[in-house]
Amino acid sequence: MPIDAIEPYDDENIFAKILRGEIPSSKVYEDDWAYAFSDINPQAKLHVLVIPKGRYVSWDDFSANASAEEIAGFVRAVGTVARSHGLVEPGYRLLANVGAHGGQEVPHLHVHLFGGEPLGPMLA
Ligand code: C5P
Repeated sequence: MPIDAIEPYDDENIFAKILRGEIPSSKVYEDDWAYAFSDINPQAKLHVLVIPKGRYVSWDDFSANASAEEIAGFVRAVGTVARSHGLVEPGYRLLANVGAHGGQEVPHLHVHLFGGEPLGPMLA
């Protein structure tokens, strides 16, 4: 079920639990600002989720409230994950679902990184 984008941050959301190591995830990258893991229901040959370590519900929350250091660290981490998987050539796709109309289901900001194959004009 998509979330309501304006709800406050819920420390019991599933990605908060992944960050705390309370439930397992298939980690592909971690630094001071971000954690990345393979999506459990991949929609492409490579489907990684990159999440900030801070408590941000969505891209909207993050872009409005995160520090410049957090934003820079997170954006760099997304690029680092893509490069480390050799995706720069031939390319990849980033996606962040926001709120109900965006179809966001987990209320902790996550950027989907898709690649490893031609992705077509758009994912549904
Ligand atoms: O953008 P949205 O919130 O819809 O995406 C949530 C994503 O989190 C889904 O792609 C889902 O497969 C993934 N997920 C996961 N591990 C979990 C729970 C959800 O990779 N434990």
